[in-house]
Amino acid sequence: MSRNDYDMPVFCNVREVIARRPHICGECGRIVERGHRYERAAGKWDHGLATHHTCADCVAWRDGFIDARRAVCGMDDRWYFGEVWADIREYCREFLGYDA
Ligand SMILES: [Zn+2]
Repeated sequence: MSRNDYDMPVFCNVREVIARRPHICGECGRIVERGHRYERAAGKWDHGLATHHTCADCVAWRDGFIDARRAVCGMDDRWYFGEVWADIREYCREFLGYDA
């Protein structure tokens, strides 16, 4: 994962798929085992083509977090591959007063 993924993609195709082989989740680092659902996002950013694999748990946390952040803070729906847990920790620290 690259900090360059902060850029918005030129294009990005996001699909929920079944793993035909193991993948490493780009958010939590756990292995998505063969036969398990995960999100596959393939696209082009300014730095080039990239494919991001996100496990179902991280997708659920990310989507819930984005919804909550929009509802509570009025923030946009933008998020960055590989940064979801850092964003959640920052949100908890900044808005909820938790120091993780
Ligand atoms: Zn994950």
